[in-house]
Amino acid sequence: MFKWLFENDFMPHGHCYFWRPDILWTHVLSDGIIAIAYFSIPITLVYFLNKRRDFPFRGILALFAAFIILCGTTHILGIITVWKPIYVIDGMVKAATALVSIATALVLVPMVPIALSMRSPAELEAANEMLRAEIDRRQEAEWRLQHAVESLRRSNEELEQFASVASHDLQSPLRAVVNFTQLLKSRMSGKLDKETEEFFAFIEDGGKQMQALINDLLQVARVSKEGRPAKPVSTTKVLQDALLPMQHTLNKVGATVEAADLPEVMGDPVQLQQLFHNLVGNAIKYVAPGTKPNVRISAKREQDYWHFIVADNGIGIPEHQLRSIFEIFRRLHSKDEYHGTGIGLAICKRVVEKHHGKIWAESTAGEGSQFHFTLPAVKQG
Ligand code: ADP
Repeated sequence: MFKWLFENDFMPHGHCYFWRPDILWTHVLSDGIIAIAYFSIPITLVYFLNKRRDFPFRGILALFAAFIILCGTTHILGIITVWKPIYVIDGMVKAATALVSIATALVLVPMVPIALSMRSPAELEAANEMLRAEIDRRQEAEWRLQHAVESLRRSNEELEQFASVASHDLQSPLRAVVNFTQLLKSRMSGKLDKETEEFFAFIEDGGKQMQALINDLLQVARVSKEGRPAKPVSTTKVLQDALLPMQHTLNKVGATVEAADLPEVMGDPVQLQQLFHNLVGNAIKYVAPGTKPNVRISAKREQDYWHFIVADNGIGIPEHQLRSIFEIFRRLHSKDEYHGTGIGLAICKRVVEKHHGKIWAESTAGEGSQFHFTLPAVKQG
């Protein structure tokens, strides 16, 4: 076998050149340089693949490297056969090169559409540029939004502060007007004609209505400004405290308030008392004449919240007004029909929202209303 490979009677290739040094060395040097160039290419490829481990066509590059090495080897054998006629080995290396080159050529064909579908660096740069511009646009929009929210918060704060100061400062002159009107009326009692007595009553009524408005406005400001840290609160206790100041009215109108076992919630007891006070107060106020108010309060657990319902047997609310009644100063009746300021439900909404809950109303006109709200449950453990 060794003999077959290395020893034979062939003539070395140099004979074909008649051993002329000019031709011989032109061939030898050229083959040498070509071989060096060929061998250097796989080294560069291996270096590249090492650095770019995410390169998608690693298999093809490996095949390509093998093809190049074999091409380089054929040129080395070209040099050797000038002196040593090892044409069998030369032929075998050429055959291997032929096989690998065919395989490389075949594998390359299906790669073309894949490579063509890949984005060119210029396209990638353009896409990047678009993304950068989009990020800039969004950042600017976010900045504008933050700015708008901040200035809204500030103007809201200023407005609330103004309402709070104005209502506070209005309280004492108004108290003077109401008190002195009452004093004047009692001093002159019996000496006034019917019409003047009526005028006095108008002044007193107006003053009292204004006092109620100012008190409610102060409540609104307080709910927004104040707020004790939330703690577990018994809503049974909150309801009892809320009913205390209206006990007299409840007895007078013959109202009944039924409450099922009410749960503990996380909240501010003072604000929650205000919430129950306003809802029960409305429930006993908005009833048809002659009807004895009946208020039913219940609660059911819904995930992390308690869902409360305050239901009454009152006059009800038209469907299209069910949302607007929570707006400040929104009243559906004149104060001659039912007294009020139109602020109570706005306070309720603020209290519930401060507790991260929701409030809404359901009603069938003439058949009573149900006020629903959610409050956070006390977390176990
Ligand atoms: P106020 O009672 O001082 O007018 P609210 O903000 O408490 O103000 O209520 C707003 C309006 O919603 C009331 O004027 C009334 O028309 C209506 N409303 C509130 N509660 C009830 C209720 N339980 N039944 C019927 N209508 C109600």
